[in-house]
Amino acid sequence: MNQFFSEAACALGLHDWEWRYVTADDCTQTRVCSRCHKDDRRIAHGWGAWQYQARNSCMIERFCERCGAADEPHQGKHEWGDWEQWRHVSDYACATKRRCTRCGTYDRIHEEPHDWGEAEYRSPNSCELMRECTRCDAYVLQGEAPHEWGEYYYRFQGSCEQERVCQRCAAKEEPSIAPHQWGIWQYASPNSCLYVRFCLRCNWRQEGDIVHKWGKWSYDDLNEIWIRECQHCGEEQREIDL
Ligand SMILES: [Zn+2]
Ligand SMILES: [Zn+2]
Ligand SMILES: [Zn+2]
Ligand SMILES: [Zn+2]
Ligand SMILES: [Zn+2]
Ligand SMILES: [Zn+2]
Ligand SMILES: [Zn+2]
Repeated sequence: MNQFFSEAACALGLHDWEWRYVTADDCTQTRVCSRCHKDDRRIAHGWGAWQYQARNSCMIERFCERCGAADEPHQGKHEWGDWEQWRHVSDYACATKRRCTRCGTYDRIHEEPHDWGEAEYRSPNSCELMRECTRCDAYVLQGEAPHEWGEYYYRFQGSCEQERVCQRCAAKEEPSIAPHQWGIWQYASPNSCLYVRFCLRCNWRQEGDIVHKWGKWSYDDLNEIWIRECQHCGEEQREIDL
C-alpha cells in the first residue's frame, strides 16, 4: 500500500491494528496502528458461566476466568415447587401459591373462580344439597333434594291419620287420612232403613242408601188412595194411581 492510501485509510478509521492483552492475568487490551501509531484500549473479560451465588439464593453471578473480576449479580431463574393447598379467598374464588425451592420466594398468587363439584347431600342426615369446590372448602347450597319417605304409619291407635318420616333427615310429612277399613253395611238403628258402615279402625261413620222393605200395596177406600208400608221402619208411601 502506498503512503497516500495508508494515510487515507487511517483517516477513515481503517487502522492496521489488532487487540492484544497486555498481561496474562489482566483483561486490559490495547491496540496500536502500525502506520499512524494511534492507540486504543479496552477491558475484555473472559466471562465464565452464570452460577447461583449460594445454595439458598437465586441470585446468579459470574466471574472473569482471566482476572477474577465479578460481573453484576442478578436475579436468576427460580425453581418453583408444587402449587400449595388452595385457600378459600371469597365467595367466588380460591387461590394458591408456590414457593421457590431454592430461595423460598413466593410466586405471585394464582387466583381462580371456585370449581364447583357435583351436587351432594350436605350431611348424611340432611336432604339439603350443596356443591363443594373441588379445590378449597367453599360450598354453595343448592336447595332440598326430594325426601326419602319411609312407610306410612298411623299416628295414633284408633285413628286413620297417617304420616311418614324422611329416612334421611327425619322430616315429617303433613298427616293425611289413610283409606278407612270399612266394616259391613248395616242399618243405622233397628227402626231406620238408612244403611251405615263404620271404619273398623277409627270408627268413622259413613251413610249409605236408604233401602226400605216395602210391603204390598193396599187400597184405602175411605181416602181413595194406594198405601204401602215399610216392614222395617214403618214409613208409609201413598199413591193416587199405581
Ligand atoms: Zn493508523
Ligand atoms: Zn477479566
Ligand atoms: Zn428462587
Ligand atoms: Zn375454591
Ligand atoms: Zn328429608
Ligand atoms: Zn278410619
Ligand atoms: Zn224403611
